[in-house]
Amino acid sequence: MKQSLAIPALLLLSICLSVSCTKSTATTSSSTDTLPAVFKKFDSTLVTISVQGDYVVLQSTGIPDHKSPYFASTDSRYEADTDAGFVKNPNSISAQNYTFKIPLHPALNTAHAATPLGPMGIAINGVPLFNQYAGPSTPLTTEIVSFDQYGGHPQQTGQYHYHVEPTYITANHGDSALIGFLLDGFPVYGPVENGVTLSSSDLDTYHGHFGPTPDYPNGIYHYHITADAPYINGSGFYGTAGIVTN
Ligand SMILES: [Zn+2]
Ligand SMILES: [Zn+2]
Repeated sequence: MKQSLAIPALLLLSICLSVSCTKSTATTSSSTDTLPAVFKKFDSTLVTISVQGDYVVLQSTGIPDHKSPYFASTDSRYEADTDAGFVKNPNSISAQNYTFKIPLHPALNTAHAATPLGPMGIAINGVPLFNQYAGPSTPLTTEIVSFDQYGGHPQQTGQYHYHVEPTYITANHGDSALIGFLLDGFPVYGPVENGVTLSSSDLDTYHGHFGPTPDYPNGIYHYHITADAPYINGSGFYGTAGIVTN
């Protein structure tokens, strides 16, 4: 009788031990998680990336890897925008000191916080992604003419950014390429999926949908950039946003 009780007790003990062992391994691994392969799509000469706890940390100067009329005309990176409708704004590109901390394990947040004015995400060339507003509740309407031939422009403190498709990235990587990530850790893709050009009406109110992508074959929530407004994000983040400092 004594022995028949002792055996289940021992079994139970060993089960508890193995469970707690698994648990502690899982907890420990979050600080040593390796970088998901998708982040290899960032240009490592422009963006420094590491994993810190439950965050992927991306650092960049935000200077584009393509030419622009917003570099000084004496700079080798200067290129005029010959589009007849282009109207240059008075700003010029300057180096920033961005640190984006985005969730390593992005998750839905039903509060769907509004995206900030300023950086709401980062493209694979280290340039920030901005939302569909020029100022608080002010549409981009009058700013659009100042987007250069690659879809970006600098604001008053020299932060070059994209509100719309970064055409240098899609020209070089394809219309369905990974463009970058928003602060909530969900990826942003170009306007084409499975050969079909998407518009905002194909997407939810946050400007994304759930489904497989080449980087996430099992499916993930992801945003798409479209040619029509609101371009990158709709009415807020799908998930819980991380932090950006500059
Ligand atoms: Zn802008
Ligand atoms: Zn999609």
